[in-house]
Parts: sequence; C-alpha cells; structure tokens
Amino acid sequence: MRLGKALGLLAATLFATHLQAQQAAMDPATRQLARDVFKQLIEIDSTDSIGSTTAVAEAMRKRLLDAGFPAADLIILGPNPRKGNLVARLRGRPGSTLKPVLLLCHTDVVEAKREDWTTDPFVFTEKDGFFYGRGTQDMKDSDAAMVMAFLRMKRENYVPDRDLILALTADEEGGKSNGVDWLLKNHPDLIQADFVINPDAGGLTTKNGKPILLGVEATEKLYADYHVTATNPGGHSSLPTHDNAIYHVADALSHLEKSPFPFELNEVTRAELTTRAALVEPQQAKDIRAILRTPPDLAAMQRLSASPVYNATMRTTCVATMMSAGHAPNALPGRAQANINCRILPGHSQEEVRQDLIRIFADPTLTVDYVDNSGTVLGKGSDRAAAPPPPLNEAVFKPLRETVKKMWPGLTILPEMETGASDSIYTIAAGMPSYGFNGMAIEEGDERAHGRDERLGIESYYAGVEFQYLYLKAMTSSRQK
Ligand SMILES: [Zn+2]
Repeated sequence: MRLGKALGLLAATLFATHLQAQQAAMDPATRQLARDVFKQLIEIDSTDSIGSTTAVAEAMRKRLLDAGFPAADLIILGPNPRKGNLVARLRGRPGSTLKPVLLLCHTDVVEAKREDWTTDPFVFTEKDGFFYGRGTQDMKDSDAAMVMAFLRMKRENYVPDRDLILALTADEEGGKSNGVDWLLKNHPDLIQADFVINPDAGGLTTKNGKPILLGVEATEKLYADYHVTATNPGGHSSLPTHDNAIYHVADALSHLEKSPFPFELNEVTRAELTTRAALVEPQQAKDIRAILRTPPDLAAMQRLSASPVYNATMRTTCVATMMSAGHAPNALPGRAQANINCRILPGHSQEEVRQDLIRIFADPTLTVDYVDNSGTVLGKGSDRAAAPPPPLNEAVFKPLRETVKKMWPGLTILPEMETGASDSIYTIAAGMPSYGFNGMAIEEGDERAHGRDERLGIESYYAGVEFQYLYLKAMTSSRQK
C-alpha cells in the first residue's frame, strides 16, 4: 500500500525550478526494456480472486535467467501453485563480511473491475503522458524497477559489496498466503538480511510537477482488532431495564471516542515533524515546533490533533469500525458487539492496548477480546511490543542522499512513520530494520493505488527505474570508491 499524506504542503517559493525532475538518463534500449518489463507485469493478472503471483515470479525468473543469473539463485517457492514467491540473489564480492540486504516487493494487486475503469486495468495503456493499469502505482512500477536494476547490474558484471536479495512476494494486499510471512516461517535463511528496503512505502511527491519531498518509511504502527461484547439475558421489549447489551456497548464506544491515547513521539516521528515544519504553512509549523519542545505545548497539540494525519502520528488510535446487536425488533438484545480497530505506536503491545481499552470502557460486564488477522478470537493479545523504531541507518541514508542529490538536487528527504501497514511489519518483527522508499513520483492528490484508473507518469516511471538502479549501486559500492 502507499498512503499519500496530504498535509497542505507549501510549494512554490520554497522550491526553485532547478528541482524539476531530471529527464532519466537512460539509453533507448534500456528504456525500451524498462517499458517491456512494466507492460508484462501489468498484463499478468495477480489479483487474489483469479490471478497468480506464480505467473509473475516465472516471468521475472525467465528474464533474470536470460540475463545470466544462475538458476540456483532464482528460487520460486510458495504454499500453493497460485501464490508463488521469487527469491533472486545477486551475489556480492566473495569473502564480504557485510550481511545481505533484502529488497522486498509484493507482486499481487488489488481487484479491479473493467466496468469501473476508463481503460482495461489489465492492459498496459499509454495515454496523455501516463501509463495506465492496475499496479502502476502499487507496486508493479517498483517491481519492474528492481528487476531492471538486477538486469542492468548483471549485464555490467557489477559485483556489489554484499549480496542483494530480491523477494517478489504474494498477498500483501489480502489473501491468505502472505509471501513474506510464509518465507520467514518456512525458509528464513533465504531472506535473512542486515536490513530491508521495501519500495511499497514512502516515495516521491510532486506538486505541479515539481518534486517536493521524498518520504522514507522508517517505522510502522501495529495493526490490531478487538471485539467488545455485552451479553444479557434479554427479555420482552415491553419491560425494558437499564441493563441493556446495546447501551453497554454504546456507552463503551462513547467513552472510547472521548479518550484519546496519550501523546507520544519517537525518533522517527520527531525527525518527520521537524522536517515537515519547514514545509507547511506558518501556524502549522509553529504548532509542530511547540509540540516538539519538552514539555510539549498542550494547545498546539490539541490544534494538530484535529488533523487525522497528525493525530495518528502522535498517538495510538482506536476506532469503532463494525457493530452487530440484537435478534428481534420486539426483544431486549441478548448480545451486542463492536469491532475496534487500533493502530498501535511502536514500543507497545496488543495486550497492553487491550488493557487500555478495558480501563477506558470502565464496565466490568463487558468482554474485550483480541481478534487475530484470520478473525480468530483469541481473548488475550500478544505481549510482544511492536519493535521500537530502528536507528536512521547511515548504510541506508548516505547512499540515499547521494542518489537524491544526483537526480533531484535540494530535495527534502522525510523520514516517516507509516500509520497504515505494509509487509515491513513482518520483517520488522523478525528483527530486520526496514525502510520504505522509491523514486516513482506521484503528484499530490493523484494517489490512485487501490482505486480506479490507476496511473503513473511516463517520465516518473523512467526516473524511478533510474533512481532504483543508482541507489542500489550507491548502497553497495562503498568500499570500491
Ligand atoms: Zn502495495
């Protein structure tokens, strides 16, 4: 997933015209190949309903084989024939003491109906300066860019200073066979790495065509669902009492709405807010600086909390998302239940938040259960706290600054906490710090991931392909300079 965080960024005055995205410096043959790979990926249906990520894996495996990768370094694995994952390895310098880097890309896409779209979502279409098709933003663009970088490095006989592992995986968007989870459980050695780059998060935002910032996801919130349930003997509705299951749950939800979780910043959100303060309008900037102080300014905190994005950056959030209750119009409800969806700040556990909810509801007759991803009601949540944010590793950020300087001089690099979730949640939990970014420019307001008429600017695509290639080389050539 890729979540645009529209925060009313200031454009114009702050950004000089030299920030225009550079025309990708790519020879015509490489450009044609980049287009072919992208087209092929878009036109292989990899939806959960009828598509196949194995077909994607096979197609990319063939391209890498043809480029000279040994078959032993191109492995397709998965829990069933339709949900294959490709793990490709570009070998680093023999004897290197550096641990591999994992490049994580999901190949599945969200469903798309022909009748909802202007063009056929599974036909790669070039129109008005854009490439259209399901996955052009999320994330077959970056799948193609990673494969292109591997093809080019191989063609040049480039030897990185450590192994690069590319995992093209299934079921990030949904489905029951998440490829990263499956690989970590079944073949952890294949993808064990020092850290992870996941282009499914972060990314380059433009305003009026000018790049204004490159977001780097450096940590993620933890997803959790809870059921709050009231049960009651029920009875005839002509003889109501106050002990009503629906009222119990309604009261609990009303408490929840009025009880925000505590304000808390971490290394990543502090860096994110500090950078944002330089990009937004003056009152917002003033408020941001005021909450960064110790102790934070309460009035500023309240003003920023009115924005869902700032609110979600500053605290764990929990919100009622579903409800069911009662069994007949003329009977007192025997049961009422609501689903509470929480996004938990790094450093806190699912069980800790369940206890918080119990305290907020303050009604001992209610049951509060944790519900896992498959919908199983587990009662207690895990005590394992979501990993605290990793350090902003220079092995990641130094080559990033260098590459950005080459392609978009002066562009702001913004570390971010993802308030949604991506596959990085699995690699973070497995102890591998994970960073999300890519060089595919998307205009502010034109985020169409999961939506209709998904598209990516043609030149944005080629620049993103070039960025990925330059970045991987910059990241793995430190000792050869
Ligand atoms: Zn995605």
